[in-house]
Order: sequence, then structure tokens, then C-alpha cells
Amino acid sequence: KILDSVKPYKPGKPIAEVERELGLKGVVKLASNENPYGPSEKAVKAIVEAAKDVNRYPDGGCFYLKEALGRKLDVPGGNIVFGNGSDELIVMALSAYVNSGDEVVVADPTFLVYHIASMVKGASVRSVPLKNFKYDIDGMISAVNKNTKIIFIVNPDNPTGSYITSDEFKRLVASIPPSVLIFVDEAYYEFACGDDYPESLDWFKKGLPNIIIARTFSKAYGLAGLRIGYAIAPKEIIQILNKVREPFNVNSVAQAAALAALDDEEYVKRSVDLVKKEKKRFYAFFDSLKVKYLFSKSNFILVNTERDSKKFFEHLLKKGVIVREMSSWGLMGFIRVNVGSEKENDIFFKAFASVIEGTSKQ
Ligand code: PMP
Repeated sequence: KILDSVKPYKPGKPIAEVERELGLKGVVKLASNENPYGPSEKAVKAIVEAAKDVNRYPDGGCFYLKEALGRKLDVPGGNIVFGNGSDELIVMALSAYVNSGDEVVVADPTFLVYHIASMVKGASVRSVPLKNFKYDIDGMISAVNKNTKIIFIVNPDNPTGSYITSDEFKRLVASIPPSVLIFVDEAYYEFACGDDYPESLDWFKKGLPNIIIARTFSKAYGLAGLRIGYAIAPKEIIQILNKVREPFNVNSVAQAAALAALDDEEYVKRSVDLVKKEKKRFYAFFDSLKVKYLFSKSNFILVNTERDSKKFFEHLLKKGVIVREMSSWGLMGFIRVNVGSEKENDIFFKAFASVIEGTSKQ
């Protein structure tokens, strides 16, 4: 019954599917906020090595990876849990802490999995509209009540790329009662950190009892296809998450690749630098066409085409460029494009400009 009102998550179209459907070659995908570089060469080597042992079950506790990540972040292993993508960590938190009828607080719009996974668990979802494309911190704080189990904070947010500052974060954590979990989704952490972006890990280290920080190897680390992410939280929370975790949720190849990727700081730096550099080209490009967009702390940009976004998406697709069409987020006329390689971005600019020129504003 609950599922009657749940709409399944629609992922970005894979390149191969679009090429097959449209009979095109060289399609460019800028729809899922992936890393445009291939994976780290170190990771590929580790994957080949790990392939030789796939007759064995993986290490359910991710021992070596936990140790390496713990060392890197200065966090004890008992405060870390890995997931089959950070998607799984969201589901794990809901399974562990939310019963039918409980409430969760999310922003609207935000990453759709929050709404979907909460509905599947029978939670009642309190959606707090963004204010001027930013989290309404006070609105989110006042949405919390005695039935609230989790407040989900996506920082930086997807699809807007906007972020909560350290001051805002401080205000938020000071106002949420310890009985409510603060789930901070930092899928795009590596692109965002620095300046006035909050170091939520410091809050965890200072002993905040109700924080879960989720991050991923899918974005800056370039391992989206392997599905691996992690969460950091107080020990008691990790112990509870481990109760709902499937015994072999993270496969052995993903563990080996993540271990190698962690070690390849050069790769991550290159990915982050590329995004920062290319994002400026996107801004200049949109400015030159007088197209409205949002400054992003992340590796993607939300763009207001001021046209029918479904048609706009189709036009771009026919030119071999896949972006995300945002009407299912309630953002009519918007598309989201992620920063690709320099070459991919040039292809996008050409296709986008020609669609803008060939269509008129609504
Ligand atoms: N959180 C946010 C905000 C995301 O945008 C994504 C991926 N698009 C995820 C979580 C999930 O990432 P993954 O499961 O690949 O770690």
C-alpha cells in the first residue's frame, strides 16, 4: 500500500543506451555528476589484482580499508561503516532508526533518494522548501518535532550546488535535540571543502552524539560503478547501523579499488582542480548567452533554460549530450549539467548554444 505513492528513482541515461536508441556515436554524458577522468590507474591495477580472488566472499568488515581511511581522517575504525554506495547508507540509517509513522525532515528539492527511501520505510516526510535555492535552516529546525527521527542535510546540496556555511551548520547542530539524528550527506565534500564550508568531521570529533557523516568514492575518487561509500558516526550509531547492514554489502573489488584510490591523492587533486577550472568556463559561457544559473560549490551546475526543459533535454540528446532534466524535482525549465572533461564541455557548449539559439523563451 505504502508503495502506491512511491515513484521509482530515475537515473541518468547510460551512454550506451542513448547511442543505441539514437544511432549516435561519441555521446557525452554530463547527467550523473560522475568523474570525467577514467578511474585512478592505481585503482585499476588493484581491481585487476582483486579480480583473481572473486571466488571468495569479501571481508564483510572492510578491515584494511577501514584502517586506511581511519588513518587518513584520524577517526577510529569503530566509528566507520562502509556502504554499497552512499545510497545504501541512507537506506541503512532509515532501516535502523525509522519506523512507520515516524517523521524525517528533508529539504525540497534535494537528492530524490531521501524522499523515496523514507517513503518506502513508511516515514512521513516533512519537506522544507529551499529559500532562494538555499537550505532554509530555520525552516528545517522548526520542522523538527517529537516524532522526528532524522534530519537529512545534503551539503553541498544536489541539484542546486548551494551549501550550508559553517555558521549555519553551527546554528543547526545547536538547535537539533540529541534524540534526532543529523545525517549529513557530503557526497561532494572534496569539491566543496575549504572557505566557510563546515568541517562536520570536527563536530563529530568534538563529541556531537547524533551526527552521521556520509561520503562516497563515486565522485572525486571516480569509482561510481563499483558502488562504495562510507559513514562516520559515534560508535553507538555505527553499532546499530551494522545490525541492519547486509553481511557482504561491499564487494571485494570495490574495497580493493577504494583502498588504492585513497592512496592516489594526485588523482583526487587533479579531479578537483579540473572541476574548479572548468566551472569558471561554464559560468563565462552561460554569462555570454545571458542564461541564468546558480553558482555551485559542487561538480555540477543548475541552469534555468527558461524554456520547456523536457524539450530542451531532448534537443541536447539528439546532439549527443545527456544532461539531467529537472522537472521531476519540481524545477520547471531547469537542467542540471555536471562538469566534464575540457573536450566534453566544449561539445556541451556547442550543443547548448545551438539549442538556445534555435528555441525561444517561454
Ligand atoms: N548523495 C548525493 C547528494 C548524491 O548526489 C549522490 C549521487 N548522485 C549520492 C548521495 C549517492 O552516491 P553513491 O551512492 O554513488 O555514493
